[in-house]
Parts: sequence; C-alpha cells; structure tokens
Amino acid sequence: MQKLALVGLGASGLFALKELAGAQIEVHVFDVGPAYAKRYPCPIDQGKLEICPPKACSYCAPGQSAGSWNDFKVILTASSVIGGRLYDLMGERELQRRLDAVKETIITHAKVEIPVVKPSQDDLQWIKKRATLAGMTYHYQELLHCGSDNAPAINTSILDQIVDAGPNLTFHWNTLVSCVARSDDKFAVKYDRYRFPGEGKEELFDYCIISVGRGGANWLTQQEFYKELDVQPGQVDIGVRVETSCYFTEEVDRRFYEPKLYFRSRRHNDVVRNFCSNPRGFVTPENHRDYVLVNGHSKMFEKSDNNNFAVLVSKTFTRPFKDPQLYSQTIAKVANMLAGGGPLLQRLGDLRAGRRTKTLQNNLVKPTLEAECGDISLAYPHRILEGIIEYLDSFNKICPGVSDESTLLYAPECKSYPDAIAVSKSMETTIPNLFIIGDSSSWTRGVGQAATSGLIAGEAIKIRVRDSGNVFPSGAAAGVEQSVETFCAAPQPDAAIT
Ligand SMILES: Cc1cc2nc3c(=O)[nH]c(=O)nc-3n(C[C@H](O)[C@H](O)[C@H](O)COP(=O)(O)OP(=O)(O)OC[C@H]3O[C@@H](n4cnc5c(N)ncnc54)[C@H](O)[C@@H]3O)c2cc1C
Repeated sequence: MQKLALVGLGASGLFALKELAGAQIEVHVFDVGPAYAKRYPCPIDQGKLEICPPKACSYCAPGQSAGSWNDFKVILTASSVIGGRLYDLMGERELQRRLDAVKETIITHAKVEIPVVKPSQDDLQWIKKRATLAGMTYHYQELLHCGSDNAPAINTSILDQIVDAGPNLTFHWNTLVSCVARSDDKFAVKYDRYRFPGEGKEELFDYCIISVGRGGANWLTQQEFYKELDVQPGQVDIGVRVETSCYFTEEVDRRFYEPKLYFRSRRHNDVVRNFCSNPRGFVTPENHRDYVLVNGHSKMFEKSDNNNFAVLVSKTFTRPFKDPQLYSQTIAKVANMLAGGGPLLQRLGDLRAGRRTKTLQNNLVKPTLEAECGDISLAYPHRILEGIIEYLDSFNKICPGVSDESTLLYAPECKSYPDAIAVSKSMETTIPNLFIIGDSSSWTRGVGQAATSGLIAGEAIKIRVRDSGNVFPSGAAAGVEQSVETFCAAPQPDAAIT
C-alpha cells in the first residue's frame, strides 16, 4: 500500500483526514500537540486561574490549532473577500458546497444546538445605509459560533468518528516533524518526540500533506523543497484589540454577531477592517514564546459585559523588502518591551491626547485581560494608529459610543500570513504529490476555508490512489470544474483579506 504523511492536525488536517479514513492508502498523522482527548482545556475555564497569565500558557497559540479550539467561529459564506481566497481557486459554487459540508459536520458533532447567524433582509438594509453614511463597506457573511467551551468536544467527536472509519490511520501525537525532504519521487519525513527528543526516525512516503498552520509557516520556509515552489511574499495586518462596553455594539451584535466592515484610511488609503468580534467575550494573550500578542474569544455560556474585536491595518511591501513577518514581529516585540514582556493597554482617550494611560481605576470599561498600561504610540507607526483611530471614528457612526475615550486598546495584535504558494485546484503544489493546505498555504484565513482546503486535498488523493495508474489533472481529481491552467497563480497578497 502507498503511504501518506499528514503533517499537522488542525482544522485543515482534520478534514483532509476525514476524506482519507478508510481509503486505500496508509496514512501517518503527525502533530506536536497531544491527542485531542488529552488536550488541556483553558485553565480559566477549569477554575484554576482567574486571569490569563501573559506568558505562561500556550492554550491559544496558533501551533495548537487555536481557532478550532478557541472561540471556534466558522465563516460559512463563500466570499471573494472574507475567510480566505479559495473563491479564486474553485469559484463560489464549489466553495459554498464544501463550506456547507464543513458546517454539517460541525453541527452533527456538537452536543448543543449551534445557531447559524444569518442576517435578514431588514438587517442588510439597516447596515447598508449606516455603513454607507459612515464611509464603510459591509461584506455579507453567515456564521457558526461554537464557543471555546464547545470546541474541544466537537473536535474530539469528529476525530473519534474518523478513527472508527480508518483502520489505515496511524497517529504520532506529541511528535515534531523536523524535516520533509524530497527523495526521488517520494518524501523523506524526519520526526521525533516533541518534549523529550532523542528517538528521531525517518520514513519514506509517496504523498505528503503539509497542514502546519500559521504557526508552522516559518518552519515551512526552511524546508529544502520550499525553494522549488512558486511563492509570493505574504501580507501583514497590524492593529489593536479593541474592548468596549457590550451596550455600545449590542445592536450590530444582535443582528450580525460580527459585521465585516471595511474602510480605506483617508491619507494612506490602507485597508482597515474589523476582525474577530467577540460580543460579551474576553481578551486573551496569544503566546508565541518570544513575543506575546493579544486575541479575543467568547464562550457560549459564560459572558462578560464587554465586546472585543480587532481593528487591523493591512500592509504589503514591495522590493527590496521581503520579510513582512519580521516587520510585524519587530513591532510586536517593541510593544512587549514597553509593557515589561506582555501586552500593552491604553485608553483611546489617552492615545488621542498623546499621553500614556496610567490607571484604569475610574474607567467606564473594565478590562477582561490584565495588561500593562502604557502608550501604544511609542511602539506603532503613526500611519497605523491614524488608520485605527479613523476606523473607530467611522464605526462610531454605526455604534455610538465605540470611540468613547473609555474604549480600551490592547497591543500588539498582529497577523502575519505565510507566503502565498501556487497550488492546483486540489491544493497540490508544483511538486507532484505534495499538497499544502490550510493557513500554511496562505489560501485560507480561518477554520471554514482551512477545513475546506483539507476536504479537497483529501478527496483528490483518495481518488488518485483509487484510480492509480490513470493519469488525470488534479482539478478533475478534486471533482471540481477544469480550468485551462493546471496551476493557479499565487494569490495577490494585496487583496488577501479575511
Ligand atoms: C487565538 C486564535 C483564535 C482564532 N479564532 C478563530 C476563529 O474563531 N475562527 C476562525 O475561523 N479562525 C480563527 N483563528 C484562525 C484559525 O486558527 C486558523 O485559520 C485555522 O486554525 C487554520 O487551520 P490550519 O489547519 O491551517 O492550522 P492549525 O489549525 O493552526 O493547525 C496546525 C497544526 O499543525 C501542527 N504543527 C505545526 N507545525 C508542526 C510540525 N513541525 N510538526 C508537527 N505538527 C505541527 C500544530 O500543532 C497544529 O495542530 C484563530 C487563531 C488564533 C491564534
């Protein structure tokens, strides 16, 4: 039997595995994390801690499949703008079909009812008028919000069903893949235990799916084969996590849960957008070990009195600069440095007045994350802060109160996206039988499209293995319409927005 290595079992890897369970191929799954059933729940949910420790916990870090374990908000709409760029690869109809399949799987495995957030005609009229008057553009989306408290059980249940259907699957948990190298027409995979290395092994595989997420993007660039891929530099988003009273945003929260509102900054014409809204949620640190970002999540059952969401300014760079990730990490590290090692917190009123925040004692909005008060303008470029303030002032026209001086801004909230890799319609790279899926391919930006990319790669390989000996283009293998070109051009990062 032929062999396949699946490196990374996050959102995309899980759905690829769903397709491959029971197929005529031996599948080895590698993930640095522990078995799903043994993954530790958030220590705050366990009652072990009251607030997030800025540095000690990696529960939310991207390397631990963060989005499908944390908040678990799934964009269900096939859009050319939000959730990733699979729309450009496979078209609206195919993408919607896969997103519907992802939704069905999640709903089936949830122990409680997960409502689909679907704006009505009245909601759309309401937002269209207000967004236009505020100088913003609204992008439609339907959503599934599972909540951090439901996420572990849903993922574990999906995986249990896959295991039952897959005698062909072998799991290597707590295992770090250090290297994937080409060996003639096969792939040599080197791996070892993650925490107590010393038993390194190497095995040959006929196929390889790389699904290491954003957390593994840097690792990917260090692989020897990477030089052979057709890539374009990725994009960065630099911004802040905004925390305000839930009463200021309750009307949009009720109607949309998360309204996707885009804005062009006046002077620099940068795209500024909101991202990851968490009505009545919590701000949380995102620990990357050598720097700490901020993020947010919400739960189905436990609620705060605040709403938090990111406001991000998107940036791409042209020659000669080629390392947008380094740029955003450097800004993040400066913000951390000023805060003594963790996130930095400032009232919007103080940022406008050009002074550091010293205390939040009498502030209307009470923070849900303990962070060091300070001055974000010492760490962030003026252009970025200007875009953020302009955005909040416009958003204030839709949700009066949002740009109140009591609004809290946490920094750094940076998203850096991997290089955009050219793939076929079934996520196969220009190296035959090497598939790169999910966020590490840069084609996806969230759980929904990451899972979709896994489905199409898994399906393509299953069919290829079944029909082995028949040579056909990858697009056909994925069951999607053929295009003249086998390989799609790498996405243009400037338009890459979630
Ligand atoms: C805090 C946080 C909250 C988020 N919330 C949401 C949300 O609510 N909704 C949403 O749509 N998106 C959310 N996202 C984004 C979402 O997490 C990603 O878009 C999604 O998980 C991408 O899936 P993936 O399979 O590409 O990567 P991941 O889910 O990150 O999975 C990658 C896997 O690869 C493993 N891995 C990495 N390197 C190696 C290696 N060398 N060897 C072995 N294993 C390796 C990791 O352990 C991990 O399990 C969030 C992200 C963060 C950080």
